[in-house]
Amino acid sequence: MHYRKPCGSVLEAIGNTPLVRLRRVVEHLPVEAFAKLEFMNPMGSSKDRISRYMIEAAERDGRLKPGDMIIENSSGNTAMGLALMAIQKGYKLKVVVRDTISQEKLNQLLALGVLVHKVDTSLPPEHPDSYNNITPRLARETPNCYFPDQHGNRENNAAHYAGTGPEIWEQMEGRIDVFVAGAGTGGTIGGVGRYLKEKDPRIKVIAVDPVGSVFSPHFHGEKNPKAGPYRVEGLGDEFLIPTMEFDVVDDMLQVTDRQAFHYARRLVREEGILGGGSSGAALWALLQVAEHLGPMDHPARIVTVFPDGAGRYLSSIFNDAWLEERGLLVEDLPESGA
Ligand code: PMP
Repeated sequence: MHYRKPCGSVLEAIGNTPLVRLRRVVEHLPVEAFAKLEFMNPMGSSKDRISRYMIEAAERDGRLKPGDMIIENSSGNTAMGLALMAIQKGYKLKVVVRDTISQEKLNQLLALGVLVHKVDTSLPPEHPDSYNNITPRLARETPNCYFPDQHGNRENNAAHYAGTGPEIWEQMEGRIDVFVAGAGTGGTIGGVGRYLKEKDPRIKVIAVDPVGSVFSPHFHGEKNPKAGPYRVEGLGDEFLIPTMEFDVVDDMLQVTDRQAFHYARRLVREEGILGGGSSGAALWALLQVAEHLGPMDHPARIVTVFPDGAGRYLSSIFNDAWLEERGLLVEDLPESGA
């Protein structure tokens, strides 16, 4: 048995997450499917990686100085990753979150001592107080602060190019046919996708975003796509953003809230893997890909990423009453056998 040596601090426990083979959810298909469990990072999401990478890069070149305040907008996960950095390294942190953020994430941010600024999601994107506009303004108005800007800073993608991508390549021993992942900032799909394609250009990279996001319509050639509301957290955007690297992507799929949430619940019931809503979206997309593959001389090896955990959504996605009130409940949830 190989045991990991003690980590010098909790920061060293970021990354090196397990890659697990999926079984029941793909048993009817001629594929081998694998998922990287990013919710096993210390703060429970893939965003720990980019938080560490962006903060340490800014420290190295003087953009961030001791005692500064960090300001960022986040669906909650980057906020938690940055909270870890702020606590470990002695910075203050203010985060801007959408008012659709799950109660569990909000409570965890408050437990970590983060200053939280909630934004009304019904404001139009061009409104000065909208989710995307308010953070740069706060950053300009606050002295001695650093705005990592995960939506505009390619160090986000570089964190996945340097970490998640090589880990997946090593764990799969270089045998991958398709990489599927959700696109929020696009950091994961861009960083991992680029790394894997450099290693083996035959690998197909498939992104998924929610119906209501502008990424997929743009990818498929629509001019000035209109954004719409959706509930799944962490995926898609109402704007095209610099971190979304469309040139790395071979195809984009769009998932509904209903599909994302139902597949998150299936993931828990059928695999015992506690993924959140965007993990459900990733599983849905993986199954779409698996069902529409052309003929191959071996079972296709498909890899995806489960960005965060179900524990963040117990009062929403995993609560029948919450789903029913929003018309999102799918009745035929399989027995877990537990
Ligand atoms: N899922 C969740 C829950 C997230 O918080 C994020 C990050 N926004 C993503 C998926 C998407 O990851 P990325 O930003 O790297 O595209």
